[in-house]
Amino acid sequence: MKVLVTGGAGYIGSHTCLELLRQGHDIVVADSLYNAKPEALKRIRELSKRDFQFYEIDIRNEAELERVFAEHAFDCVIHFAGLKAVGESVGLPLKYYDNNVGSTITLCRVMKNNKVKRIIFSSSATVYRPGVLMPVDETAELGCSSPYGWTKFMCEQILRDVVTAYPDWSVVLLRYFNPIGADPSGRIGEDPTGIPNNLLPFVTQTALGRHDKLQIFGNDYATHDGTGVRDYIHVADLADGHVAALQFVMNHKGCEAINLGTGIGYSVLDIVNTFEEVNKVKVPYVISPRRPGDVDAVYAKPDKAKKLLGWEAKRTLDDMCRDSWHWQSNNPQGYQEG
Ligand code: NAD
Ligand code: UDP
Repeated sequence: MKVLVTGGAGYIGSHTCLELLRQGHDIVVADSLYNAKPEALKRIRELSKRDFQFYEIDIRNEAELERVFAEHAFDCVIHFAGLKAVGESVGLPLKYYDNNVGSTITLCRVMKNNKVKRIIFSSSATVYRPGVLMPVDETAELGCSSPYGWTKFMCEQILRDVVTAYPDWSVVLLRYFNPIGADPSGRIGEDPTGIPNNLLPFVTQTALGRHDKLQIFGNDYATHDGTGVRDYIHVADLADGHVAALQFVMNHKGCEAINLGTGIGYSVLDIVNTFEEVNKVKVPYVISPRRPGDVDAVYAKPDKAKKLLGWEAKRTLDDMCRDSWHWQSNNPQGYQEG
C-alpha cells in the first residue's frame, strides 16, 4: 500500500514508518518538524534500508497539502500530526484546537478532493470520561478533562460525521493508552523537548543523572501499592497495531474506535522497580503530592483490537524498560547527537 503518514517524524510516527517500510509498504511523510528532528527520518531510512519522500509542511496549509496529494496516489492516510502536551493545552487551548482540529479538517477536505477514503487517526485513552469503570472498553462514556483531550474527542466526532456523510469512507480511531519503549536498535525513540511531563522519559533522564530525583505523584491511590496505575504499551506494539489497522481499512467501510493497550495496569513503583532491575541502574525518587487531574488507574479492555484487527500487544514490561533505557543511554541528548 501507499500511505501518507502525517507526523511521521515524531515518536509513534517514526516507529510506525519503520514497521510499514519493513512490511513492504510505501510511505510519504508530512511533518512540520515542530516537535521532531530530521535525524529521525535519516535513521528510519538507515534501519529500513529504504527511501521515502518527506514534505516539511504544516498540514493546515491546504495548498501545500494539495500538492502532496497531487504528486502521489495514496491508499490510506495515517494521521499522527498533532500537539500532545496535556498540561500546556490548559494554558494554550486555542493553539491546541487550531492545530489538532484544524489539521484534521483540512486533511479530510484534501482527502475528499482527491478521493482518498481511508484514514487511521491517533486518538487517546484520554477521551474516556474520568472515573469510568476499568478495564475500559470502547463503549464507555466519553468526556475529557483537558483541551488536548477535547481535541481528540472532537476529531473523533468529525471523522464519525464524515463517515455518516460519505459511507464509502473507512475510518479507524485508535485510542492509545501509554506508549513507552523504543526500537530495540536504540536508534529511534522518544525525544521530548524541555523537562518531560510523562513518566518514562523522566525516569530515563533521572537514571542518566539529568534530574536528582523522580517525583512520584501520590502514594495514596486505591491501587495495589498506592501509586497511579496505567496501561503502558511498547511503541513497537503500537506500530504493529497500525499495520494491522491498515489491512483492516483496506477491507472495511465505516468507522471503528479501537483501544490499543495491553489490558495490564502497572503502577509507578512497578515501573521504577522493573526499570532498575532490568537495566541495573538506580532511579532515585521521592514521594510528592498527587498531580492535579490524575486518576487512580487507567487500563484497557483490548479485546476489540484482537477481534477486528487480529492484533494484541506482545512485548513485556521488561522489554519496554530495557528498550527505553537502550535508546536513552545511547542518545543522552536525543537526536541532537546526530
Ligand atoms: P510527537 O509530538 O512525537 O509527534 C507528532 C508529530 O506531529 C511531530 O513530529 C510534529 O512535528 C508533527 N506535527 C504537529 N502538528 C503538525 C502540523 N500541523 N503539521 C505537520 N506536522 C505536525 O507525538 P507522538 O507521541 O508521536 O504522538 C503522535 C500522535 O498520537 C499525536 O496525535 C498524539 O496526540 C497521539 N497520542 C500520543 C500519545 C502519547 O503518549 N505519546 C498518547 C495518545 C495519543
Ligand atoms: N508520574 C509520576 N511522576 C512523573 C510523571 C508521571 O509519578 O514525573 C505518574 C503519574 O502521576 C501517572 C503515571 O506516572 O500516575 C503516568 O503519567 P504520564 O504523565 O506518563 O501519563 P498519563 O498520566 O497521561 O496517563
